Amino acid sequence: MPKKREIEAYNNSVNIPVYNSASYYFDDREQVIEGLHKKSIPVGRYGRYNNPTWVHVENRLSQLSRAEDTLIFSSGMAAHFTTFIALLKAGDHVIFPAECYRQVRNIFHKILPKYGVIAHEVSIVDPEEFVNQVESLSKKHNVRLIHLEMPSSPHMYLIDLCKVKDALKKETIITMDSSFAPPPNFYALDWGVDLAIFSGTKYLNGHGDIIVGVVSGKKELIEEINWYRDTTGPVPDGQVAYLLNRSLHTLNLRIKEINEKGLKVANFLQSRPEIKSVLYTGLETHPHYALAKKYLNGHGGVITFALDLNEEQTSNFVDSLKEPFMASNFGAPQTLIEQSTFFTYYEYSEKELDDIGVSYGTVRLALGYIDDTDAIIADISKALSSLAGEVNDVKNPTTV
Ligand SMILES: *Cc1c(COP(=O)(O)O)cnc(C)c1O
Repeated sequence: MPKKREIEAYNNSVNIPVYNSASYYFDDREQVIEGLHKKSIPVGRYGRYNNPTWVHVENRLSQLSRAEDTLIFSSGMAAHFTTFIALLKAGDHVIFPAECYRQVRNIFHKILPKYGVIAHEVSIVDPEEFVNQVESLSKKHNVRLIHLEMPSSPHMYLIDLCKVKDALKKETIITMDSSFAPPPNFYALDWGVDLAIFSGTKYLNGHGDIIVGVVSGKKELIEEINWYRDTTGPVPDGQVAYLLNRSLHTLNLRIKEINEKGLKVANFLQSRPEIKSVLYTGLETHPHYALAKKYLNGHGGVITFALDLNEEQTSNFVDSLKEPFMASNFGAPQTLIEQSTFFTYYEYSEKELDDIGVSYGTVRLALGYIDDTDAIIADISKALSSLAGEVNDVKNPTTV
């Protein structure tokens, strides 16, 4: 067997090959100098820095978000963390939403302060109050970065991005966790966001079979983040990049399907008297519906609803469902359901739950695009009907 692999005589396969290589070879010393150091010819060096399958999917993701450049990561959290650690330093002020993804909140609460970053948490429940707070913090401090997330989970809250941007100094970097609303439902970068960050695990991959993260946006910022990715190594392997690339072929089809299904099921849930409230940005009753009309092109498949029940009664309701898997994720092919106080907020006290507006009756439904909505509706309908007595008990505790 020859020591060096010959490059294939034909490398014009329609699909991008999966590159799984820890290193890339050079023909001679000249190529090392030109390729590695002068960068005058495109050659790879080592798998933590280079992978042609990554580059292919990164280019497609840039097109998707209308971004100057993109990087992929080993997870959505790695994408967030690498971005923050690359762009922030001791003494910097940063603003983040109280309602953002719990582990992102942990980065601001528990990790970055260890390195001298001063993090300000502001609630987005009232969009105008959020803008006011951002404006006053921005006047008082040199805010290096503001991190946003919309829609947020589980309430699907939105942010008036244009007003937030006006309230900030020009040099403040705006990052946005867009996992719940990727293109084509929402184009964060078109609204002046500098970096759109995604858990690619969710809608972008859409098959529930890989963990991956994405950062798309301004080239100069991406270059800084790239140095941190090269150095600290939160990279996916070639197979993950390949699967993400394959998933992008069907992104528009999947999102179109899930938007239709989401609206249909949200309307059904709202029509049921046993359900106290439904939070879905496509419903006029959503507190931020006006913002949804301004910023979103579609509303996805995640619907949060609250039953007028205690924790155990709510669990009985969720347990009795036959169709959805009890699992955390969204954007997957299968429909998933979770009772919020048993998943994300298990360790929260009653007071903490009150503060964040999550009740024991809160349930998050993440519709899958392969499921028949009529079957999901029938399943939920049956479970609700068998609860009717209990709902009454809670509303009228003195009733026998
Ligand atoms: C899932 C998720 C993340 C984390 O992404 P991973 O790919 O699981 O690391 C971050 N933000 C939001 C909004 C998410 O839903």
